[in-house]
Amino acid sequence: MKDYYIYYNNNFVRQSNATLPVLSASTQFGLNVFEGIRIYKEDFYYIFRLEDHLKRLDNSLHQIGFDTKVISTKEFLEILKELIILNNINTDFSIRFTYLINEIDSWSSKKRPVFFIAPLIRERNSADTYKTIVLTQTRRISSFAMDTKVKCGANYINGRYALLEAKSKGAELPILKNKDGFISESSGACVFIVKKGVVITPSLDCDILESITRDTVIKILLENNYKIEERLISEEEFKESDEIFLCGSAAEITPINLLDKADFKIGDLTKFIFHEYQQAIIAKSYISYSWTTKLDVKN
Ligand code: PMP
Repeated sequence: MKDYYIYYNNNFVRQSNATLPVLSASTQFGLNVFEGIRIYKEDFYYIFRLEDHLKRLDNSLHQIGFDTKVISTKEFLEILKELIILNNINTDFSIRFTYLINEIDSWSSKKRPVFFIAPLIRERNSADTYKTIVLTQTRRISSFAMDTKVKCGANYINGRYALLEAKSKGAELPILKNKDGFISESSGACVFIVKKGVVITPSLDCDILESITRDTVIKILLENNYKIEERLISEEEFKESDEIFLCGSAAEITPINLLDKADFKIGDLTKFIFHEYQQAIIAKSYISYSWTTKLDVKN
């Protein structure tokens, strides 16, 4: 991986020079909150749903007990512009925007967090690729124990267990049920199913992250007069669905093949939402929603 410049603790530094003490609560206990934000390069750089990501990060900061507010959109854009120039980025990419504790302290630390913004090169999904999934024994953490609406590093250890289990069973990704046995989400993406033309997704009380892409998908489908249901989904119903797809800032729209389904073909509705999403992220349609922030950088 290239040693990109990142913005860390108020300075632009090479990623390899951005260090923190091994005994910080962030390295030891996963005490951090973060966002992954996509930037698409066309005639300009298009940042997808920036305000919503900043809002969710601010909420995560508050919920985890970090005594700071997220930086302003203006400050974020100034840093991003500089990162594009310093790294000479001329393609699609994403950024990891993380608040963490870089001092030696316990998991109960009340120290003021610092943040980094780091670019990661990541291209858009191509239309004809899909992933295989399996339902795992590993359950999604309960929001009564670890609030799944907080995008905290430590929550991802739950995803790790599920992913390791899925891989050991020959699938690429897991689908986790929640503590009550209803479909929840994948390790880093939300899930939709299609049955007889109706699109169904687990409701927000199914221990999922309140996904920004999930919201985008719902709005696109409603705009196109599809019937959407946000509700509990049983394992049986999930296995009998006509189509399955995942969604997330990183996953975008990912068509899904349940591991043991023979003769798999990507479904029509999945193809439709894939296409519409690809248009939305570069402001070619759904412009009235103001989902994209256009950034002009001469580098
Ligand atoms: N669930 C989990 C556990 C995730 O990590 C992500 C990725 N952020 C998502 C869902 C999708 O969320 P979003 O659409 O906001 O990226």
